[in-house]
Order: sequence, then C-alpha cells, then structure tokens
Amino acid sequence: MSLKTQTAFSKLSELCEKVVATTKRLEKMSLVGEFIAKLLPEEVEAAALLIIGQPFPRASHRVLAISWAALYDVLKEMFKPSTDEIGTLFRESGDLGEVVRRLYLKSGRVAQATLFPTPLTITEVYQTFTVIADVQGTGSRRRKTGHLRSLFMHATPLEAKYLTKILLGDQRIGFNEGMLEGTIARAFNLPLPLVQRANMLTGDLGKVTRIAREEGITGLQKVRLQSFTPLLPMLAAQAKDVSEALLQHGGESAFEMKLDGARVQIHQQRNGQPKIRVYSRRLTEVTSSLPDLVTLIQKEVTETSCILEGEVIAIGLDGRPLPFQHLMRRFRRVRGVERLVKEIPVRLFLFDLLMLNDEVLIDCPYTERRKRLASICGSIPLVPQIITMDSREAETFFDSAIQKGHEGLIAKRLDSPYKPGIRGKSWLKIKESLETLDLVIIAAEYGTGRRHRWLSDYHLGAWDPETAEFQMLGKTFKGLTDAEFEEITKRLLELQVERRGNVVLVQPRIVVEIEFDEIQRSARYPSGKALRFARVKQIRYDKSPDEADTIQRVNEIFESQFLRKASTNNVGRTSLSK
Ligand code: AMP
Repeated sequence: MSLKTQTAFSKLSELCEKVVATTKRLEKMSLVGEFIAKLLPEEVEAAALLIIGQPFPRASHRVLAISWAALYDVLKEMFKPSTDEIGTLFRESGDLGEVVRRLYLKSGRVAQATLFPTPLTITEVYQTFTVIADVQGTGSRRRKTGHLRSLFMHATPLEAKYLTKILLGDQRIGFNEGMLEGTIARAFNLPLPLVQRANMLTGDLGKVTRIAREEGITGLQKVRLQSFTPLLPMLAAQAKDVSEALLQHGGESAFEMKLDGARVQIHQQRNGQPKIRVYSRRLTEVTSSLPDLVTLIQKEVTETSCILEGEVIAIGLDGRPLPFQHLMRRFRRVRGVERLVKEIPVRLFLFDLLMLNDEVLIDCPYTERRKRLASICGSIPLVPQIITMDSREAETFFDSAIQKGHEGLIAKRLDSPYKPGIRGKSWLKIKESLETLDLVIIAAEYGTGRRHRWLSDYHLGAWDPETAEFQMLGKTFKGLTDAEFEEITKRLLELQVERRGNVVLVQPRIVVEIEFDEIQRSARYPSGKALRFARVKQIRYDKSPDEADTIQRVNEIFESQFLRKASTNNVGRTSLSK
C-alpha cells in the first residue's frame, strides 16, 4: 500500500476540533462515524483509540509515561519560549494542547511543516507512540525525547495540539468511550449491547471498532473473554444505610464486608506452561510486586484456569488492617520486593469468580459465582458475608465490620450478573464515615513553617462534564503524614505546568479522597460551591482522574444535606409545638 492512500493525522486533528466545537451528542457521533467509515481497514484501531485519547487499549500493559516536563524539553529546543510565555498561554486557554498550537503559530511553524514531503499519518503517529512506550533501560529519556522531537518537527500547529493532548492523557473533546460505542452501533447498524459487551470483554475499543466495521455482527458475536486480558472491575454505587440497600435489592441482599485495601484481579492457567498474572484496579499488571500472593494462589487454587477477584489488605502486628498507604508501597515496588514482603505482609480475601476452566461466569447470578468460588479457593478466605432480609441483622454485621477496622459493607444483589466497568445499583457500598468525595489536585502550594519544603496545600477540583473542566471546590493541607507530603511533592512536580509564586499549577492526575464537614454555597469559585473543613483521608494513586467525582455528585450531596437539615428542623418544630 502506498503512503499516499493513508489518512493524514491532520484529518484526525480536524475531526477532533469539529467534535469539540459542537455540544450535540448526535452530531459528534455522526462526525466520528463518518470519519471511521472512510478509513483504511488497518487504520481503524489506531484512529478509534486516538479519537478517545487512549494511546493504548485499556487492557494493554503499555503506558506512554510522557510528562509535560519531557514535552517541554522538546518545545524549548524548537521555540525557546520563556516560562512566562507558557504561563500566559496556559492562563488564556487552560489547555496544554492549545498552548502548544499557539507556540507553533507564533513561530511561523505552519510553513515549516509543509516543507516535509509527506504529512504525518495516523499509522505513523500510532507506531511512534508504541515505540515510545516500549523504550526501556538506560538513556530511555533521551531516546523518548528523540522520538517526540521527530513527531513534533513534522507536525502542523493543529497536529501538535492533538499530539500534546493525547500524549498527556488530556484529550477532553467531550467524546468518551460510551459515545464511541454508540457511534459504532449507529454507523455500522449493530446492536449497542453487543458492541458494549465486546468492549467489556476485550478492553480494546480500537479492536472492537475494527471488528464491527470489517466483520459486523458475526465478528462481534465471536468475541470472548480471555485469560490475561483484564476486565474492568464492577463498581458499587452508594447507599446511605443497610435499609436503603435492602429496599433497592427487593427486600433481601448479600452483605459483604468492605475491606479497605486494594483490589486485585487474578488470572491463572495451569495447562501447558503454568502462568499467573495479577492486575490492579486500574488494570496495571502488579504480579512481580506480589510474589507471596502468586505462591498462595498456585498452592491453593488447583483448577485448570480461572479469573478471580479479591481485595488485598496489609495487616499490622495487632492483626488489624493497616492504612491503605502502607499497602500502596507494596503495589508500587518493583525492586527490593522480598524485604517488603516481610515488612508489610498482605492478606488476600476473595469475593468473585469470573471464569472457571474456560467457562465464562460473568452472566451467572452473584450467588452462583460465590458458591463456585467457595468450592475452588482452598484455604484462601472469602470476604465475610451474610445473606439476610433483616435490617437489624445487617446493621449488627455492619458494626462488626467497623469494629474489625474495615470500611463498611457492600450489599450485592443476589441475582446480579457481573457487569465490568459499571457502577450500578446491583452493588451498593455502605460506609461508616460521612460521605467522602474523590477529587483531583489541580494545583498545589508550598506550605509555610515546617511544611515549606513541600507542596502541601492542595487545590481540589471535581470534574464538570458540561464545561469539560475541573471545577475548584476548595483547598486543604490537612490529613497527610510527612512521608506522604514528600512523595506527593515529587509526583506533583513531575506534573507541573506552571509556577506562579508559591502556587504550582499541575496536570490534573492525582486523586485524593476528601472528608469534609459540609458543602456550602460560595461565590469564591465558579462552581458556586465550596467544601467546609476539607481534609485528605487518603491519596488514591489507584484511581484515575476519570474515576473522580463529578460536580453532579457534589450537587447531589449538597441537595441531600439541605433535605437532611430541613427534616431536622421539622422534627425540632414539631417537638416544640407539642
Ligand atoms: P470505592 O473505591 O469506594 O468505590 O469502593 C469500591 C472498592 O471497594 C472496590 O473497587 C474494591 O477495591 C473494594 N472492596 C472492598 N471489599 C469489597 C467487596 N467485598 N466486594 C467488592 N469490592 C470490595
């Protein structure tokens, strides 16, 4: 195939501009549908992923690991911008991709790009991303910079904008995975649930787009769950107490203890060359950090093949669970693992079975999955559970979970299938403490006094799908230990976009779970809301920014506070009038 027939990356960049320019979902979907229909077959996978800003499929082990600092090195060479200039451009647009486009335009780079005989193609961009992700070993930063340089030297201003956005995981064009699934269904006249299912099973929407376009319904029907392709975890919505959960689940439910640890998905095959892989909640492979877990599974679970799910918790000397941050040290560690295995022993509690001896179980009811799990897990404990219709019994179970140092309960609907990636009502979490919000750090300030060395005052944002921005809700410097300040400062500096005096603006990447006393109306922030007495409960390195809470959820909590207050006032009034 000649290069000429390939689709230029500029076409994809123009498409993204058109998609972001309209707020109409259907229009966005038609634009993308028409674009995908015209591509060469071999371009479809890459294009689909690039449009939704996923350089690699969810289920892939590849990561780009390109920070703004690394990109900035390349831009510095090309344009010699001052930090002030970048800062001004960033303040104007709030978007690093746009910053880069304006840098190109200011320097007259338009003409430069057209000097190259062949324009950048979608395939070329995608292949270079893959090469960048695969660079390893000494000198990797230098080699990555080399690849970035060659991409950016060839790029037009608009292409450079979208290269930046995708590289930094900051696509934000108001077109997500769900919309791409809808687009595929509409464009190729396929049932949406079939497309969604194929995506859920493969974790690769690029591949699903290609199969849908090239093979249609028969192709999609052939898609199967596969070992060593991790599935997105099923998630839980919130319930305020066990009675609400019972009501939602039709009067009876399974209550499992909610352990405050880290979720793991374990894939094991014993026929042929035995193989075992452990994946985190974000589908990163963590097998080498957890050798003790691997040995345990190999010893206890003797079935030919299985996919298990469970929660790993760290245990202190007193036998009680240790705070989450201790456990995270185990998960992140690749060197010196052996020492850490002794220092921070972990325990695994299983709670689900998704595949057994090549039989896919995700469509089976919860009760059956749990029964079959119990029959194959050897001496590995299952998460403690009761099935009841009685709210008092469930409350007593809740109290015992809290006493044992756990977070609360998860109520699971007895007849519910396992729905990967879905936060539905089939699973309801009931926590003890006041509601918390998962927010994203959008800027940080150096502290005063003892905290002056650390970025220790955090600006917290919730995602607003309407404006496609993080809306600030408040600041906090409370809740972290010195070691955590140290670690988070390092990470925040890698995400630094601009420094203004004491304040460092960062790419919104780090999720923190925030406790607060109340959500108040406030004119200080554009969202019109502010958190009162916010404090960090824990840093959630295991969560990605797109899992953070939205402004909509903030508004829901705000409304519910209001209702609660109104009902307390009523109670007060009635008792006075008696
Ligand atoms: P959250 O992170 O608050 O949305 O709560 C969901 C998380 O709770 C899951 O991703 C698991 O890591 C964890 N979890 C703890 N115990 C259980 C359980 N029994 N069943 C399912 N998830 C659990």
